[in-house]
Amino acid sequence: MYAIETTNLTKKYKTLTAVNNLNLKVETGKIFGLLGPNGAGKSTILSMLCTIVNPTSGSAIVNGYDIIKDSARVRQSIGIVFQSISVDDRLTARENLRFHAMLYDVPSKIMGRRIREVLKLVGLEDRADSLVRTFSGGMVRRLEMARGLIHNPEILFLDEPTIGLDPQTREHIWDYIKTLAQEEKLTIIMTTHYMDEADLLCNDIAIIDHGIIKVRDTPEHLKSFLAGDNIIVRTKYPDKLATGLSGQDYILQMQASQDRLSLNVKQGSMNAVRIINSAQDLHIAVDSIDIDEPTLHDVFLHHTGRQIREEGEDNFISMYKRKRRGR
Ligand code: ADP
Repeated sequence: MYAIETTNLTKKYKTLTAVNNLNLKVETGKIFGLLGPNGAGKSTILSMLCTIVNPTSGSAIVNGYDIIKDSARVRQSIGIVFQSISVDDRLTARENLRFHAMLYDVPSKIMGRRIREVLKLVGLEDRADSLVRTFSGGMVRRLEMARGLIHNPEILFLDEPTIGLDPQTREHIWDYIKTLAQEEKLTIIMTTHYMDEADLLCNDIAIIDHGIIKVRDTPEHLKSFLAGDNIIVRTKYPDKLATGLSGQDYILQMQASQDRLSLNVKQGSMNAVRIINSAQDLHIAVDSIDIDEPTLHDVFLHHTGRQIREEGEDNFISMYKRKRRGR
């Protein structure tokens, strides 16, 4: 069963094609991530699936309903947490949720209970009756998530759920998203330009650039698709170690230099142990061993030929650059 099914879904703004013939199927129960740089078309895809923006051509089925012919049913079956703030900071958290529940025709008999449930899910039950204007950015984001869930949707759409939040708050939001997905048995469709976020949360990722999906898979498969992991063994006898290891089937490449042996191997973490064992058998002392597994940054670079951000604004990119320089 698919939560989302699109056929040649396209959105053009005058001469610009924001989304280009998108054919996408997402199974129910997945946390699906659309990963791409700013301007890649992620928000436009979400807006079309949420019936906020009409496609120029093509079609999409969300929860079994057509986004054009059955848009009201689509809207009733989805929850939306977009980047723009939609809660009212002059009201309390509970008042905001009650207002939204009424908009979505949540029966009054169950409304109170459901409001308590969603507040608990996002850890705001203690602040239910505080004015939203007293909330931190992370708390507002959590309230937005609670709001998006109040009517028991089957799919939750999250557009850049942690943008603008500090690292610690981002981690909290990730925990809440994981809990929501499990406890509410939701399909989550999210956009992000953060590699770590996609890697940690999503079990299905599409890398998108210029309105086109470049590659789609689980984070593990995306990373393992790239050639092996890099291992650096620091030792006084790199040549002797290289000779001893030659012919091992997990080694893709090997290069000895003055104080180290650099290897490219299949399944780095597992085979690092074999390298250490071989060194011991050869009576070669190993000073240190470093494993460098591919990240989603490498995957993105491989499929798009560029880094996800052109600017150094994002500290994940600078981490990435440092890591590459260290190789
Ligand atoms: P992302 O969410 O990946 O940052 P968007 O979907 O917001 O990307 O935008 C994709 C492209 O479509 C961008 O080039 C953007 O400038 C353009 N675009 C988005 N919305 C509009 C609009 N309302 N009018 C004109 N161009 C738009």
